[in-house]
Amino acid sequence: MHELAITQNIIAIVGEAAKGRRVTRVTLEVGKLSGVMSDAIAFCFDIVAQDAGLEGATLEIREIEGRARCEACGLEFEAENLFTPCPCGSYRSKRVRGEELLVKSIEMAEAA
Ligand SMILES: [Zn+2]
Repeated sequence: MHELAITQNIIAIVGEAAKGRRVTRVTLEVGKLSGVMSDAIAFCFDIVAQDAGLEGATLEIREIEGRARCEACGLEFEAENLFTPCPCGSYRSKRVRGEELLVKSIEMAEAA
């Protein structure tokens, strides 16, 4: 499962940043055109976090709308997924936004 590997990667980044402190919240930005299923990441997160000793951390996912620029007519349009055609009918487009997958912020509890 693709999303499991991604989640493990995210948790590794978070664990590194936390350096043993308790992580309370992780905010992710996931582009709608990244090909990543936010639901699947949310599903994997609790399990992977627990394995890594980061149990109790909550996950917040912000979805980034996709935008693409048509190579036929030059119009920039909202793309719901990778296969959204331009309103002119062309499928040849360049993605300009929505491929993001990044850890936006990590909140940690004060060290006791
Ligand atoms: Zn077009």
